[in-house]
Amino acid sequence: MFESIALAAPDPILGLTDAFRADARPEKINLTIGVYRDAEGQTPILECVKAAERLLLESEKTKGYLGIEGLPEFLRLASDLALGDLVPASRVAAVQTPGGTGALKVAGDFLAANLRGSRVWTSTPTWPNHTSVFETAGVATESYPYLSADRKSLDLSGMLETLERDGRIGDVVCLHACCHNPTGIDPTRQQWAEIAELLASRGMLPLIDFAYHGFGEGLLEDRVGIQEISKQHQEFMVCSSYSKNFGLYSERVGALLSVCSTDQAATHVSSRLKQSVRSNYSNPPRHGGAIVATILGSSELRSQWEQELAAMRGRIHEMRTRFVEGMASTNCGVDYSFLLDQRGMFSFSGLNAMQVDWLRSERGIYIVGSGRINVAGITPSNLSILTAAIAEATSV
Ligand code: PMP
Repeated sequence: MFESIALAAPDPILGLTDAFRADARPEKINLTIGVYRDAEGQTPILECVKAAERLLLESEKTKGYLGIEGLPEFLRLASDLALGDLVPASRVAAVQTPGGTGALKVAGDFLAANLRGSRVWTSTPTWPNHTSVFETAGVATESYPYLSADRKSLDLSGMLETLERDGRIGDVVCLHACCHNPTGIDPTRQQWAEIAELLASRGMLPLIDFAYHGFGEGLLEDRVGIQEISKQHQEFMVCSSYSKNFGLYSERVGALLSVCSTDQAATHVSSRLKQSVRSNYSNPPRHGGAIVATILGSSELRSQWEQELAAMRGRIHEMRTRFVEGMASTNCGVDYSFLLDQRGMFSFSGLNAMQVDWLRSERGIYIVGSGRINVAGITPSNLSILTAAIAEATSV
């Protein structure tokens, strides 16, 4: 039976990581996968995470299953982190999920089973897994424009016009709360208000992917989109990930928060989310959620986490600025200052597929074909090699 099965296409980004590993050149640089790296190019375990794990090692009494929805304390704190006092807790149906991807998948299952006929609109471009996750759940996807023709700013009118013209009542619109992946371009507060208004007037449901909370401007500032949505929507969904902001990539910890218009609706939605969890992975893993709950529940560990998060955010901002300055000093003739308006780990560099190929084959610099770079992959020691190579690539 198995002989007839054709090989699946490799994941475009993870495939590049394999090629990078196999590259023997000592000066190779990896700007592909979305993982934070420190100035030494490492992805460290945060100190607050280590401290929480030491506490858990002493205090944990069981490895028994969690409830289908996950750790109650984690859910309370995760809701508070993403939503603050924007909505009463009784109107939030929450489940702990394996990462942000798990939250998106449970949301997709919920939509497929309970809001039949709804389609999910994703931005062009978006994180490629969005479409796969929703389609695997059985939800049709559509796309709205996001990038202006010069690929340097948000095409707000294109986005709103498309959704107004082609969106239907009951459709779902997937939005990146902050640090849009792959462009790094986020709406301003005013633009968020316009997006919220259009979706409300068309009866469309916002589904907010919150994978980089704290990587943009700060924990409160990065909630601007959620704040504006909550002013005009009684119902919306948030998919939170703790992979980046707690550095808990492999622990797989996330949360799906469904904001409902009444307490009763929240109870009903919660029962439906649990149906999806039960048939997917039954109940979530304990350890990652317990780490996040321990940190957020302790004023000391929380302030340590906020400092460590600010340091990661600051390093990314700094490398972004130094990269722009470095490119300017090469006199390559291309102005990269537009990157300063972008936020988070990713940026659209403007490099085309040929230049990306040249950088990989000639210089061992790995960048995704779209020209997206992971700014966190830039370090003080690889910066000048990188800027010189890009200057050369753009002049060949
Ligand atoms: N959404 C976006 C936009 C992402 O970039 C990512 C991670 N690359 C995720 C969701 C998934 O995060 P996780 O690793 O927590 O599943």
